[in-house]
Amino acid sequence: MDFFRPDNWQEALEIKAAYPGARPISGGTDMMVELNFDHDRPEAVVDLTRVPELREWGPEIGRLRIGAGVTYTRIIEELGDRLPGLAMASRTVGSPQIRNRGTVGGNLGTASPAGDGLPPLYASDAEVEVASTGGTRSIPVTEFITGPKRNLLRPDELISAFYIPQATGPQQYAKIGTRNAMVIAVCVFGLALHPEEKRVGACVGSAAPTPVRARDAETFIEGVLQEGGLWESRARIDDAALRRFGEAVEMAARPITDVRGTAAYRVHAVGVLARRTLGWAWEEYRGGGG
Ligand SMILES: Cc1cc2nc3c(=O)[nH]c(=O)nc-3n(C[C@H](O)[C@H](O)[C@H](O)COP(=O)(O)OP(=O)(O)OC[C@H]3O[C@@H](n4cnc5c(N)ncnc54)[C@H](O)[C@@H]3O)c2cc1C
Repeated sequence: MDFFRPDNWQEALEIKAAYPGARPISGGTDMMVELNFDHDRPEAVVDLTRVPELREWGPEIGRLRIGAGVTYTRIIEELGDRLPGLAMASRTVGSPQIRNRGTVGGNLGTASPAGDGLPPLYASDAEVEVASTGGTRSIPVTEFITGPKRNLLRPDELISAFYIPQATGPQQYAKIGTRNAMVIAVCVFGLALHPEEKRVGACVGSAAPTPVRARDAETFIEGVLQEGGLWESRARIDDAALRRFGEAVEMAARPITDVRGTAAYRVHAVGVLARRTLGWAWEEYRGGGG
């Protein structure tokens, strides 16, 4: 197997153009498992860890642009205040060792329905930036991931970064696993309140072939908040509305039964997570004053 180790982004793109079958490797926390178990024998591997451009993040035209090689540990430490939902999700990934190596770029590359980095991206309408020697394109994350372990990346392309707005309101992330750490999610729920636009982003993970936005639940709760003037008054959301929000989220789930949980359990659990996380996020919003 050929092994390439580019020192910069242009070189990485040129290698990918010349060897479209070459597999990129970032933290290697998914890739090495595949190689070690012989699930994959790519003709070549491109190690991206020396590409400085992939490790950068910063503001860009009203959003944050975060390089595909920024690790979970750095998201927690450097971006926790700007992206609380993604930081919460990052804290649930693996162990400190996995968070030190693993990247959101790798999570997007693997495109697992259980990827913890993904629901916060969905809930905030993130876009994935991909590039080849021919140019760059930006794709909404909801379109980028097309199925379990499938995405829109072409053979000559690499993921360069993702764009996500800085939080303007409370965000939440909740995960159910069979134990507290080092666990693939049974199901998860990510929530983002966007008070400036009076919008709510809600995403179910590990309960369908891809993460899914709970659009009907979003519309329902946006209506409750808007019609009741709750964004302005910061009054409580009543229990019946929280329950109906949870039920609408349940409707968005299309889970399977597997070793980690039954489909019925997952549907029930995402409803509970949705109700709870909305309650927590709204309490935080109410406490925000102003
Ligand atoms: C013990 C253990 C625990 C784990 N726990 C969790 C968990 O709790 N939650 C969770 O979501 N995941 C978990 N994972 C899976 C893994 O850590 C994550 O999916 C992580 O985000 C992968 O990032 P990486 O940088 O290591 O990717 P890599 O393994 O380097 O790559 C993953 C995939 O993305 C592709 N890729 C990487 N970078 C790019 C790029 N720039 N452009 C195009 N394609 C690219 C690779 O070719 C590969 O297909 C765990 C893994 C292990 C081994």
